[in-house]
Amino acid sequence: MVQKSPALAGRPRNDTMGCLDWFAALVCIIQYLGENSVHKVIIIGSGCAGLTAAIYAARADLNPLVLDGYEPGGQLALTTMVENFPGFPDGILGPELIENSRKQAQRFGTEFQSGAVTSVDMSRRPFTVVAGKETYETESLIIAAGASARMLGIESERHLLGHGVSTCATCDGFFFRGKDIIVVGGGDTAMEEATFLTKFAKKVTLIHRRNEFRATKIMLDRARANEKIEFLTPYVIEEVHDVNSKSVEKVRIRDTESNATSELETSGVFVAIGHDPNTKLFKGQLDMDENGYLTTHDGPKTNIEGVFAAGDVQDHHYRQAITAAGSGCMAAIEAERFLERHKG
Ligand SMILES: Cc1cc2nc3c(=O)[nH]c(=O)nc-3n(C[C@H](O)[C@H](O)[C@H](O)COP(=O)(O)OP(=O)(O)OC[C@H]3O[C@@H](n4cnc5c(N)ncnc54)[C@H](O)[C@@H]3O)c2cc1C
Repeated sequence: MVQKSPALAGRPRNDTMGCLDWFAALVCIIQYLGENSVHKVIIIGSGCAGLTAAIYAARADLNPLVLDGYEPGGQLALTTMVENFPGFPDGILGPELIENSRKQAQRFGTEFQSGAVTSVDMSRRPFTVVAGKETYETESLIIAAGASARMLGIESERHLLGHGVSTCATCDGFFFRGKDIIVVGGGDTAMEEATFLTKFAKKVTLIHRRNEFRATKIMLDRARANEKIEFLTPYVIEEVHDVNSKSVEKVRIRDTESNATSELETSGVFVAIGHDPNTKLFKGQLDMDENGYLTTHDGPKTNIEGVFAAGDVQDHHYRQAITAAGSGCMAAIEAERFLERHKG
């Protein structure tokens, strides 16, 4: 029988201790990694609302993660001159305003990840957010996914968006002082935008594909009574010219009854056929109104504690960069307070 040396005789005990130590250390590492992979706040969307929320959350040491979505920078990244954002007396290009805000958020420690969120589980905290192949966990969530303006669906309008084609009369009406412009749509929004635009335009032609309107009688009557507005029905726009010169000069229109086409000179086309909030993802979890906009209470709070909404995703009324930014600020402050209250 081979006699074990005293050193070897002690090994089994030491080995057992070593394994336990290793196991405990591993558990600690897993716990540590687990705790640290849970974000304090994730922000869905990088438009004005998301970026402002990021600046505030980052300055509050929350190390926010922003998930960019399909449209980094949001709607302002698609436009040219923004003249109504305070602080820029000569105006600022939309993409520049967005780039500045992004840099400001990064400066205080915001992390950005590209990719759109495909699912969110808000049934328990930490919330789970899936974007592409990545799954994230977060103690709080700011939804700033915006809204997308419905477009006519023709190639040329896409190229001329921000160059004479607009979806926002409040934003761009000022640029069309003394010009002839077109508004497309048949609902209350179209009537409201057409009426508003008569403050600037020489003439507004309201084009609608049907002879009947969805607009309420009061809005329709007000537009009809305005001598600067001319109604053109039942027509659709088939093409906006001129993509090459990057400015709107005329449109080709078609009579939907006779199919006859003709051209109409104009300096601008305002598409006013509605917006779709980017909220399908949250159906069944977050409260929404009949048009899919998230409903909030006490500022940016949703029906789920720890989930906040900011910007156009919850606002179909103002839809402005400054109001989106303002609500992004509110959402970040509320997220910070929420995290403070629920500090483990
Ligand atoms: C052509 C144009 C010109 C405009 N001009 C002006 C102007 O001069 N002045 C003004 O005040 N306002 C203007 N506006 C309006 C202004 O741009 C909006 O009110 C503002 O951008 C709203 O900001 P937001 O952050 O709420 O949403 P958005 O800007 O719509 O941003 C939404 C963000 O959410 C992201 N997102 C969406 N779905 C997902 C998802 N599933 N996962 C991850 N991310 C997602 C998008 O990628 C995007 O980054 C203009 C709008 C347009 C379209």
